[in-house]
Amino acid sequence: MLKHVTISLLILLGGLAGVNALHPADLHRYEFTEPHMGTRFRIVLYAPDEATAKKAAKAAFARIAELNAIMSDYQPTSELMRLCEKAGGPPVEVSADLFEILRKSAECAKLSDGAFDVSSSPVVRLWRKARRTGEMPKAEAIKNALQLVDYRKIKLDPKGRTVQLMMKGMLLDLGGIAKGYAADAALAVLHRHGITRALVAAGGDIAVGDAPPDAVGWKVGIAPLKKPDAPPVHYLLLKNAGVSTAGDSEQFFEIEGKRYSHIIDPKTGYGVIGRRSVTVIAPNATTSDGFDTPICVMGIERGLKMIESRDDLAALLVFETDKGIITAQSKRFAKYLWKEAK
Ligand code: ADP
Ligand code: MG
Repeated sequence: MLKHVTISLLILLGGLAGVNALHPADLHRYEFTEPHMGTRFRIVLYAPDEATAKKAAKAAFARIAELNAIMSDYQPTSELMRLCEKAGGPPVEVSADLFEILRKSAECAKLSDGAFDVSSSPVVRLWRKARRTGEMPKAEAIKNALQLVDYRKIKLDPKGRTVQLMMKGMLLDLGGIAKGYAADAALAVLHRHGITRALVAAGGDIAVGDAPPDAVGWKVGIAPLKKPDAPPVHYLLLKNAGVSTAGDSEQFFEIEGKRYSHIIDPKTGYGVIGRRSVTVIAPNATTSDGFDTPICVMGIERGLKMIESRDDLAALLVFETDKGIITAQSKRFAKYLWKEAK
């Protein structure tokens, strides 16, 4: 049976009462939403007046639309898809944004030993089709598609800002990191408009700037694994950070009692089995988005090891196993918990 539901994994609340108020009376809270990149982008910001707020939000949404035109793998005209058409050929000069997101993707791929791999698209597409048709991908098709999956065959040269896809037929999919990148870019646009107290949420990928005027941070709730609409169990308190949640609560494919996630293991070509929800906190949303996806593939032990290898990352892992639901958190995670921070 095919199931496809779209529920936001994270619930956001407003600011928390606290100190740190510069001119609270002069700033007002404004909220804007627009659909982009197959999800709902939400901007919450504090500005002196409505005109300033609207102008800044409009520019931020325009920036997100610009990034979608570069990074979409649904639009054949996107810069990404035009790059893929040249796979197997010589290096191609790309925009600063495309180069930067591929550079960040390479960093995530390397640290996760290939559990994050933006060249997984040929396989990801087979599973997308499976969700549409309700039919399991053929083992042969997965085997063939896997031959085109290898992040080490994406050559980046910062000097000429070029990208070379070394195998003909290679296809890239930035779905595991693009929303985080767009949230960061939107936050940067708000900054340029003089707005530093803001939050940009791209579904489950969130970038936060300075705290609200009446608060010490942004309070962000992590929805429970099995009931994404139920009240959050954990709340975080964050500023100048990124937080992302990946998992299969939103998109998955169920057949013969097995539930395959839309996140695939690039080594096997199969969707991750079993419910998993991974929340990563990082200095920005590009990084948090890039690391939440591979942890779903790597599992608790390897995933936590990767997180602990860097002192700017923290994570909460909730995995459904034969023995029930297992929750694990990295050493630094508790630091961001709202209760701890009070
Ligand atoms: P979402 O918020 O859409 O669930 P995620 O950050 O969880 O985003 O990334 C899931 C998306 O990443 C998939 O829809 C697919 O496009 C892509 N993807 C799936 N598996 C991998 C992988 N192992 N490495 C990189 N990208 C992947
Ligand atoms: Mg991700």
